[in-house]
Amino acid sequence: MTKRIKMKPGTRLSEQPENIGMNRWHPDIPAITHVKPGEDIILETLDFLDCQIANNDDPSDVRDIDLTRAHPLTGPIYIDGAEPGDLLVVDILDIGTITPYGFSGIFAKENGGGFLAEYFPNAAKAIWDFHGIYTSSRHIPGVRFAGLTHPGLIGTMPSIDMVHEWNRREAPLAAEGKAKPPYEPTAYVGALKGAERDRVAKEACRTVPPREHGGNTDIKNISIGTRIYFPVFTKGAGFAMGDLHFSQGDGEIAFCGAIEMDGYTHLGFDLIKGGMAKYKLKQPIFVPGPTDPKFEKWLMFEGICVEDGKQYYLDATVAYRRACMNAIEYLQNFGYTGEQAYMLLTAAPVEGRIGGIVDIPNCACTVAIPTGIFDQDILPRK
Ligand code: ZN
Repeated sequence: MTKRIKMKPGTRLSEQPENIGMNRWHPDIPAITHVKPGEDIILETLDFLDCQIANNDDPSDVRDIDLTRAHPLTGPIYIDGAEPGDLLVVDILDIGTITPYGFSGIFAKENGGGFLAEYFPNAAKAIWDFHGIYTSSRHIPGVRFAGLTHPGLIGTMPSIDMVHEWNRREAPLAAEGKAKPPYEPTAYVGALKGAERDRVAKEACRTVPPREHGGNTDIKNISIGTRIYFPVFTKGAGFAMGDLHFSQGDGEIAFCGAIEMDGYTHLGFDLIKGGMAKYKLKQPIFVPGPTDPKFEKWLMFEGICVEDGKQYYLDATVAYRRACMNAIEYLQNFGYTGEQAYMLLTAAPVEGRIGGIVDIPNCACTVAIPTGIFDQDILPRK
């Protein structure tokens, strides 16, 4: 029978009965179990906010969130025989829910923020109920869709040199509040205790940004059936994952998520010895799985890098923001508030693309919404 690492739902990571996780990256965090190449394992994971969000209509838990507890990860998993320079082949064989609901939200501008924080400064929350592969929300009526379920965060352990390098290069931004430096008080570094725990907790990297090992990439297409090839930087690879999303739009624009959930992931592992040098790989590559929900029609919104009368130069971030704002303003024609439309774009399987990135001075980006998720026709009419 496949080994299963269990989590107690509703119980924060540091209070789980066994030391089965971590919320920082550091190679001295002890492995929770060993897996041989060719073996499977099932990992249960907690939602990315470590059980701080309740299934109710009150967004004050989102507003008052302690973001330093993100992300509770299950791992590290030691893969027997893995050495620096190898590629770790990870198959996502299945993903499923544990609790029958998830959440998405808008962080308050002064605590977390998000891609559109200037326009939506107040906290909001939407609870999503799961019906098998489908979801709907009492907080965003009139939509129902199948999830493209995936881990927001999945990766291998950095070497100690990488930990130091990541902290060094992010420090100037952290000083301006634009990156998250190590933070010892809420660091959970598995089974370590005493002085050793404190030493590791002080320098361990936060899990917020994606980095060379994968990590918090929030790529919705790393879904069921995907095969990922991760660089290995430490002995045993130190695989870990968490932050499962029932569904997410490209960009995860509200930052308080996709449709965030507790869940389990069935994984298979293999190794390609010396694969990093052989294929000149410095970051993960992956082959998406065969189980995408099928949507026939899309309504696509354009955006260019001009905002509030200011001209930007080939700036895809600004262009994508304008595309999202154009979509949000349009959806308000169909009975949604701006906050509801924002939470829908972060949660539904919308597709973000770059059109032209060469036509100076403007970059063109699009956001595409599958029209079939609505119970009404959202196209313009005469
Ligand atoms: Zn997430």
